[in-house]
Amino acid sequence: METTRIQLLDIHTHRLPEAPGTAVVSVCPPDFRPETGHLYSVGLHPWHIGQEGHTLEALEAALRHPQVVAVGEAGLDRLAGAPLAEVQVPLFEAQARLADERELPLVIHLVKCLPELLAARRRLRPQVPWIIHGFRGKPELAAECLRHGLYLSFGEHYRAETLLAVPTGRLFLETDESAVPIGTLHDRAAALRGIPPADLCQDLAENAAKCFFPGKAAEPSILPANLG
Ligand SMILES: [Zn+2]
Repeated sequence: METTRIQLLDIHTHRLPEAPGTAVVSVCPPDFRPETGHLYSVGLHPWHIGQEGHTLEALEAALRHPQVVAVGEAGLDRLAGAPLAEVQVPLFEAQARLADERELPLVIHLVKCLPELLAARRRLRPQVPWIIHGFRGKPELAAECLRHGLYLSFGEHYRAETLLAVPTGRLFLETDESAVPIGTLHDRAAALRGIPPADLCQDLAENAAKCFFPGKAAEPSILPANLG
């Protein structure tokens, strides 16, 4: 019987991967210049509010492109310059509405704003997955997020006890700005959880299929490329 190794999807990175389709490349609208075969996430980051081209109109236009598989990173950041309640929350909610309209998952940059995020979630009642990327919080914070239906994505740096507390069905891995390959991050996570890497890979690929390619599971061409 043929065995296929399923490719892990790096759900959040700022670098173009060597193999197209193996990572979701996160860009802001002015930097969205899709290259053949690559997957993208486009959003308005709270650090760049007010910068040229960072508009909801530009975002909406980008989201119509078939290679865009997520909205983000969108977010709430207590340390960013823009006022939280007056500027960041409305912008975040507008992007969350676009994600629902386009049926795309929302990749979230969150810094010390979980209550505000949960309040937005209560107001909007989103239909699409919300994924907090680069999660570094304690297990208690993760538990709170999980209770509210959020997914958590882990990069190079995180608390081991938190990664262990997240059920596989709500887990993602990402490289973000890190130079450590996604495969290495994956093998570390599998070792930490004490499970065979192939099992973790299978579970994470299922999460990716469900969240990033809903309804397209029967079309292998759009799924992350197989390593073979
Ligand atoms: Zn990032």
